[in-house]
Formats: sequence, C-alpha cells, structure tokens
Amino acid sequence: MFVNKERYLQLFSDLQEKNVCLVAVSKTKPAAAIEELYALGHRDFGENYVQELLTKADVLPKDIRWHFIGHLQSNKVKQIIPFVYLIHGVDSEKLLVEIQKQAQKTGRQVDVLLQMFIASEETKFGFNALELKDLAFLIKENKFPNVRVRGLMGMASFTEDVGQVRQEFLLLRKAFEELKAILPGSDFTILSMGMSNDYELALDAGTNMVRIGSLIFGSRN
Ligand SMILES: *Cc1c(COP(=O)(O)O)cnc(C)c1O
Repeated sequence: MFVNKERYLQLFSDLQEKNVCLVAVSKTKPAAAIEELYALGHRDFGENYVQELLTKADVLPKDIRWHFIGHLQSNKVKQIIPFVYLIHGVDSEKLLVEIQKQAQKTGRQVDVLLQMFIASEETKFGFNALELKDLAFLIKENKFPNVRVRGLMGMASFTEDVGQVRQEFLLLRKAFEELKAILPGSDFTILSMGMSNDYELALDAGTNMVRIGSLIFGSRN
C-alpha cells in the first residue's frame, strides 16, 4: 500500500470539479506505487529524473501520460522525446532548440511548458517575464515547428509566508495571460503551478494543472 486512496479520490474529485488536471508526482517511488494509482484510473504521472523515467516507462502500461517535471539537460532530451507527454520545465532557449531538433528527427510534435522563475530562491530555474515575452514572439514566428508550447510552469518559494507564495503565483498567472495575448488562437492553455503544500493557493491564483506527490504517495526520503 503506497497510495492514500481516500485522500487521492477526494483530491481528484475536488480538482476535476474545478477543471484542474492532477499530475501525480511519483519520483523516487517504486513502479508498484504507480500501478496502485493506475488501477484507480489515473494516467497522468510526473517524474523528475530521466533515468528513473526510462526505467519506469519500460515496465509500466503504455497509455500512461508521462510528464517530465524536473530540470532537463539538453544531452538527455533525445532519450525522452519518443514517449514523453509533456515537458514542464523548459528553462532556456538552448533547451528549446534541442527539443525542436530531436522532435524533428523523430517526426513528432512535442508539447512543452516554459518555466518561469518566480521564487526568491536562487536555486530554481526559469525565465523572467521579459525573456518569456521575447520567446513568445519567436514562437509566434514559428521558429520551433516541432514544439507545441502549451503554457507556463513555475514553482513558488519554499516558505511559510502565504502572502509571498500567493504573490508569486499571481505573477505567474499574469505572465500566462500576457503570453496568451501574444499567441492568440494557439494551444497555449496550460498553467502548471501548485504542489502538495501550496496547491490551494495556486487554485486561488487560477492554476489549471497541479503537480502533487507527497500528499498522494507519502513523504519522500
Ligand atoms: C517533487 C516535485 C513536485 C511534487 O512535490 P510534492 O511536495 O511532493 O507535492 C512538484 N513539482 C516539481 C517540479 C517537483 O520537483
């Protein structure tokens, strides 16, 4: 028993009511934990490490939608391109260029989110608002034809300060709306923000995709 089933079912129905997609973050948890949730009908799973994702994808059902939510190195892009469902953490133009290159080779279109830096910590990755705007214009010019930029992703500061987290999420929401205005009529519709300890604040700020691990699978070692 890996999954807190009651909590998962409650969470899933609460989020579904609000049209928010739940990505179950299974990093560091065994394949058996994913199978437990899969048996309840869940299909969206999030992983942070390429090798771990490859190992799990190999043994688990093929209809799982794998979300790569970690920091992706350019030299590992090639390995996940054939089967990844959504890459959340695109945090540099270099990475976007590499995803374009590898996606073109396999002849597929790859869905990604651009990561925005909203936290006060220096360790978190991502673009600032200005860089995002510049990038939006390149996207509009179809510089990355094999990449579908579906939206934005961000991580708030790890702090008890609710006001600060709320502000960071609102900043991300604002950037999301601005980019949507630059890319009218596009597939730019996903706002990925909110984790176990702050997803309620993210809901208030208008998220439509949350990435939740420990609340479902228990804390990680
Ligand atoms: C680990 C992780 C999560 C899930 O964190 P929990 O606190 O366990 O819900 C969400 N997003 C990213 C980017 C992560 O690395």
